[in-house]
Amino acid sequence: MAKKTVRDIEVKGKKVLMRVDFNVPIKDGVITDDTRIKAALSTINYVIDNGGKAILMSHLGRVKTEDDKASKTLAPIAKRLEELLGKTVNFVSETRGEKVENAVASLKDGEVMMIENTRFEDIDGKKESKNDPELGKYWASLADVFVIDAFGTAHRSHASNVGVASNIEAVAGFLMEKEIKFIGGVVENPQKPLVAILGGAKVSDKIGVIESLIEKADKIIIGGGMMFTFLKALGKNIGSSLLEADKVELATSLMEKAKAKGVELILPVDTVVAKEFKNDTEFKTVSVDAVEDGWMGLDIGADSVKLFAEALKGVKTVVWNGPMGVFEMENYAKGTIGICKAIAGLDEAITIIGGGDSAAAAEQLGYADDFSHISTGGGASLEYLEGKELPGIAAISEK
Ligand code: ADP
Ligand code: MG
Repeated sequence: MAKKTVRDIEVKGKKVLMRVDFNVPIKDGVITDDTRIKAALSTINYVIDNGGKAILMSHLGRVKTEDDKASKTLAPIAKRLEELLGKTVNFVSETRGEKVENAVASLKDGEVMMIENTRFEDIDGKKESKNDPELGKYWASLADVFVIDAFGTAHRSHASNVGVASNIEAVAGFLMEKEIKFIGGVVENPQKPLVAILGGAKVSDKIGVIESLIEKADKIIIGGGMMFTFLKALGKNIGSSLLEADKVELATSLMEKAKAKGVELILPVDTVVAKEFKNDTEFKTVSVDAVEDGWMGLDIGADSVKLFAEALKGVKTVVWNGPMGVFEMENYAKGTIGICKAIAGLDEAITIIGGGDSAAAAEQLGYADDFSHISTGGGASLEYLEGKELPGIAAISEK
């Protein structure tokens, strides 16, 4: 299944409604990280360079009451976008109505306008977030075609994605196209051998992903806090490491399932244990068979990094979700750094990161450019990796 993209349609002279992801962190009216705005430029520029009239819309945070509006306006974002585009962005501080319609009517080819935060429509009856059919229809009425480039909300059926798309044709923007190519590629048609490296805090967050990837991967490597639930299931002592006692049985059944499918499930052989959950405390590396009471595992050890790196050799696709340890603390960051380096060094493989904290780790460490793809959607990438159909992607026309 190939989705139509903005390249497959005529944009010249067309009113092109674009659902972008400008959900950026803002503190006291100042944007603290404009990565998402920069990321949206390629599709916006494509549309205007080809003579389209760009009508932008995005959500920002959650909006529950009138009081939320002041801190959730897209006005500062429109300003930043102007700087980045080097072009006027006609920002209309409404989500619908005469002002919006007049701005659309006076938009010339190659010009850009933007409407207010789509979630201002949530104040009265959650029209945006509950996909009120009238709202989607209204926004669609402003345009000729619709470009969806907000992957982060693709797992939700909102008026600003699914709602509009049920009224006019929707195509993918370049960011969305890349997510479909890489994350969709893992789920639908991965280049094999495929290895999944899963970490992060909890098994319960990742059950769906593990279950889905067991069906597809050749190897599954487990680190992070969730490794201890698996080690416990193998009868090992895990001290005061993170344990989800109610998931031990599940861990056992996942290991059995992997075995039955011929999927190699690889667990760490050593761990960095500490006395307390903090950086400045006593810590040491021990075998996973030698964790004592009163110690908690906060990272994988050096032998595990070696073992995992070895398992990555010669693979064609790697998908990494979740840090190997508490990488926010220096003393427990080595496992994550080691794995990040090992994946980044795989020149022949498609390498994908599908998780907010793992992506942050790769960026902090300066390896972001060495990956084939770093997914931008936290919840959306997880659900996509779980093999679910995302409504915001399903809404895009097939080629
Ligand atoms: P992602 O956002 O990449 O999907 P998660 O949100 O699932 O990752 O998990 C990230 C968190 O897991 C980090 O804050 C990290 O500190 C925590 N973590 C990793 N290993 C451990 C561990 N051994 N014990 C406790 N927390 C851990
Ligand atoms: Mg996270």
